[in-house]
Amino acid sequence: MFKPEALLSELEKTGAAVAEGEMMAMHTSFRIGGPAAVYIRVSSAAQLGQVLEVLGRFSVPYFILGRGTNLLVSDDGIRRAVISMTESASGDLSQIRIADGIKAEDDETVYVEAGAGITLARLASFARDNGLTGLEFAAGIPGSVGGALVMNAGAYGGEMKQVVSSVRLMQPDGSITEVPGGEMRFGYRTSRLKEVPDTAEKGAVSAIALGAVFELKKADPAQITRTMQELAAKRMEKQPLEYPSAGSTFKRPEGYFAGKLIMDAGLAGYSVGGAQVSEKHCGFVINKGGATAADVKQLMCDVTEKVLQTYGVLLEPEVIMVE
Ligand SMILES: Cc1cc2nc3c(=O)[nH]c(=O)nc-3n(C[C@H](O)[C@H](O)[C@H](O)COP(=O)(O)OP(=O)(O)OC[C@H]3O[C@@H](n4cnc5c(N)ncnc54)[C@H](O)[C@@H]3O)c2cc1C
Repeated sequence: MFKPEALLSELEKTGAAVAEGEMMAMHTSFRIGGPAAVYIRVSSAAQLGQVLEVLGRFSVPYFILGRGTNLLVSDDGIRRAVISMTESASGDLSQIRIADGIKAEDDETVYVEAGAGITLARLASFARDNGLTGLEFAAGIPGSVGGALVMNAGAYGGEMKQVVSSVRLMQPDGSITEVPGGEMRFGYRTSRLKEVPDTAEKGAVSAIALGAVFELKKADPAQITRTMQELAAKRMEKQPLEYPSAGSTFKRPEGYFAGKLIMDAGLAGYSVGGAQVSEKHCGFVINKGGATAADVKQLMCDVTEKVLQTYGVLLEPEVIMVE
């Protein structure tokens, strides 16, 4: 067990903002989650390296937090150090720019370099403002670049895999490597960053994403804007964006849609405590007010069981449960 005072003072020497007992409900889109043992906001890759060194010295495990939009954090909180990559990000973690130095194969291709701490919305707007197509699908996904790389975030036929040229990773020992997009092993809501031993803590990642280079194409800004507006309208119409949630609760089972299976099983509006299967989109579990992680977990168990009994299909969670 680490000695909190010595640990906190060493962490503070790195210049990172450090807090004890920060409620994770403040940092998750579900508005659910108890306290983090230690909460650290890093502002740069260099500072992150120093924080990892201190945590390693004190043998303190850590959890990497993006925008918290795909997480279900336990009511008891996270018994690890939580490192927030987005809230204090400045410099390299929040930088976005045209990567002039990379030579494109043709006149249509342009590379954009973005830090892990910036939102996909900002990345997509930057691409649009520069007349670059490829990231329209990402504009409405509420996560960070880092979280999107881990999850291979995607929507409406687009996914990170299609546009990532390379990723800059920090290994647990603080060393930095550049990995080509083709070696990220992107799959359906997964990547090599999720490849950790079975014994690893929940939500652990094999390395920390510092940023990525995206390969985009020149296009008409007006058309890009139209596409983004159309996709935003679809989201507004179909998704319960007025309630806290973590997006799609379950992965899409092969050959089915989770939301349709749940609806057909008669579970629209089914609730446990403050958690409810959204009536607008049964693939979303929403926090109607005061939901606990225990409510959401129970609801997910009930839904999984009913769908398995009714259709013989096993639903797997897309949300990452963290404790
Ligand atoms: C309303 C709503 C709509 C959504 N729609 C979509 C959608 O259309 N498509 C889709 O794919 N997802 C969707 N999501 C889910 C979510 O936004 C994505 O999974 C997103 O990629 C998560 O990013 P994040 O920054 O919030 O990551 P978090 O939820 O904070 O973390 C997710 C995982 O990534 C890890 N992680 C985060 N940052 C880093 C980093 N820099 N380096 C290493 N590991 C890191 C975390 O440790 C965790 O394991 C939606 C969510 C909501 C709430």
